[in-house]
This record gives sequence, C-alpha cells and structure tokens, in this order.
Amino acid sequence: MTLEEIKALDDQYVMHSYGRFPVAVDRGENATLWDTEGRAYIDFTAGIGVASLGHADQGWQRAVAAQAAKLAHVSNLFYAAPYAQAAQKLCTRAGMSKVMFGNSGAEANEAMIKLARKWSFDKYGKGRGTVITLRNSFHGRTITTLAATGQDVFHNYFFPFTEGFRYADANDLDSVEAVAGHDVCAVMVELVQGEGGVLPLEEKFVQGVARLCAQRDWLFLVDEVQTGVGRTGALFAFQRYGITPDAVSFAKGIANGLPFGGVMAGEKCGEVFTPGTHGTTFGGNPVAAAAACYVLDTIDGEFLARVEEKGAYLREQIAAMALPCLGEIRGLGMMLGVEVKGERTNKELAARLVDHGLLILTAGPGLRLLPPLTITKEEMDRGLGIMKETLS
Ligand SMILES: *Cc1c(COP(=O)(O)O)cnc(C)c1O
Repeated sequence: MTLEEIKALDDQYVMHSYGRFPVAVDRGENATLWDTEGRAYIDFTAGIGVASLGHADQGWQRAVAAQAAKLAHVSNLFYAAPYAQAAQKLCTRAGMSKVMFGNSGAEANEAMIKLARKWSFDKYGKGRGTVITLRNSFHGRTITTLAATGQDVFHNYFFPFTEGFRYADANDLDSVEAVAGHDVCAVMVELVQGEGGVLPLEEKFVQGVARLCAQRDWLFLVDEVQTGVGRTGALFAFQRYGITPDAVSFAKGIANGLPFGGVMAGEKCGEVFTPGTHGTTFGGNPVAAAAACYVLDTIDGEFLARVEEKGAYLREQIAAMALPCLGEIRGLGMMLGVEVKGERTNKELAARLVDHGLLILTAGPGLRLLPPLTITKEEMDRGLGIMKETLS
C-alpha cells in the first residue's frame, strides 16, 4: 500500500485522536526506518522510547518467534516459565522483591497506585488514600492516571476524575510538605519528567522525598515507564539517585516493542496484592515476557556504559552545532531534551526534521531524543548531520 492509500483508509476509519506526520513506516533495521515509498529515516525516537534494542533485532526476533511457536497465551490462573523468568531478572537487577505484570505504562501506574492505597488501607484503614504527585508530571491516560498527572491541560473533558491526588512542585521539598496530611499514603514521581520536557529531578530533592516518605510512613513510588530499562544509562534511573523506592513502574522499553509493563515492589509492600485483589487478562503474556527476558539479558553493564557514552556524544555534537534555534540540552543517558528558541515551535522543527529524514520527538516546549539504545555511531552521525543541515 502507498502512503496515500493508507492515509485515506486511516482518515476514514480511525478515530482522530492523533496528529500524524505524513509518513507511513514500513520496516526498520536498528535505528533506521524505511517508509512505504522507500525513503530512509534515522530514528531518534524508538517509538516513544519503546524500541530499546532497535528495530528488527535478530536475537529478539528469535526469542519472540520461538515463544510464539510454543505458546502465545495462557491465563494467569496457570504458571508459565517466561513470566517467572522475567520476574526474577527484573527483581534481581532492580533489588526489588516482587513484580506484577501488565500491558502498558498507564496500567502499571494504576497498579502502583492501587498497591499504595491497599498497603495503607491494610495498615491504617480508610481515609489514607491520597497520593502526592508533581506538577508537570505525566503518568498516563486512564481516568486515574490523568488525575495523577500534575498538568491542568490533562484535567479536562472526562469529568469526574478520580479523587485523591495533590500536586507539589518538583525540586521543592517545602511544597511537598505543604500538601502533606493525615490522608496521604504515598508520593509518586518521574525521576526525569519525560513528557513534561525532559527535566531531571535534583538528587537532593529526590533524597529529601525519600527521607520524608520514611518519616511519615508513606510509600515512595517511582514511575520509570520512560526512564527505565537502560534509558538513562542505569537499568533503572533510581539506581542513579542513591535511593530505593518502595515501588517502581515500568513499561515502554521493556519488551522492545511488544506491549508489556508492570510494577515492582520492595519488601514493605511486596505482599499487598492477594488472590483476587488485582488482575489482568493479558498481563505477563508469554511472548511479551520472553521478549522482556531477551531485552534484560542484552542490557548488561557494558551495554549501559555504551548508553552513557552515546548520550554524551549526542549532547556534545548538538551543542557543537551552536544552532540559534536550539538552547540548553538536558537529560540523563540517552533521554535528552533540547530547548527550542526563536520563532519556530518545537512541532514545526520536528515536522521539518521528519521531512528531511530524521524522526524526532517533542516534549514540553522542546525537542526530545529517545533513540534506540543500540543506535550505531554511523546512524547517530547521519541523524546529527540532518539536524545540522535542516535547522541551520
Ligand atoms: C508513556 C508514559 C506513561 C504512559 O504509558 P502508556 O504505555 O502510554 O500507557 C506513563 N508514565 C510515563 C512517565 C510515561 O512516559
């Protein structure tokens, strides 16, 4: 099918909830994609941080195909090896005790919020279900995770939203204390606010929140849906912040493109969910779990060191372009945000880059880079070349 044919069908039958670029992606190889017209693109997006090992990785293909040929689904009323193996790999590497799998980031965060509320209910009874989140955060698109998201633009149309969320300012511990109360059970943060504009939290603030949580007996919940699975140069970003959260959610990059996610918990709240208190039909499905095992086996210490190096290289090279339309570059590992200055908006710059063969994301008012963690030097240089030429 050609772009025009696909676009016509899509326009006619698909709900218009996305503004799409005029490109129909057909296939990929690592950080290079080809559209239906045969044009090549460098991929600085990995979906939205999903294709962590790049497109069409051969080992991943084998792991997925082998599991699909054996067993694609079994209900959670039975055991299956991939679920248990993925759980062991995650808990061991993250220093957590237990995990529950789901299918997406929002669902993982819903599970994490439910976990916090039930933990508190079991210990203190009713009336302690409030979760403090940060302004400018993003936690998902379900009614509850929209309520958890600390941005007014997301609190629209879908009333009534789930109650029990209060918002504090990032990097301001006083602001967290100011919304504290007897009804609070947890604080939930992204360590690098992704959708909000790639804003890493300050280490001092994060450690302060961890201390506050310990003092007040609140759970410290970390949303690692975007920062997790090697993105920031550690398997999980919390490992760079010198803290151990009580629970951590993850999704995006965990299965290199298959829908997978979940929540891990430490000893304090690892036993909160008992039979019948939480569940999902698809969560932990064997094919996605086999993919996750492959991803986790691939992302070892050496791999993570390369993520750090490549992130630093991208930063240096973008800074060296000294383009008038770009400002400050921030982020961790290969999760980078670039400030946009001047007349044109980030969306206009992104559209122009796509038009010239580089896929890039926006976040807040800036540009965002989430390339496959496996991107090669040649692919980075080609993408950077397009950036320099197009934005000069
Ligand atoms: C993407 C994202 C989510 C939502 O994940 P979905 O898979 O789209 O539901 C939640 N939290 C953060 C930090 C994210 O980046």
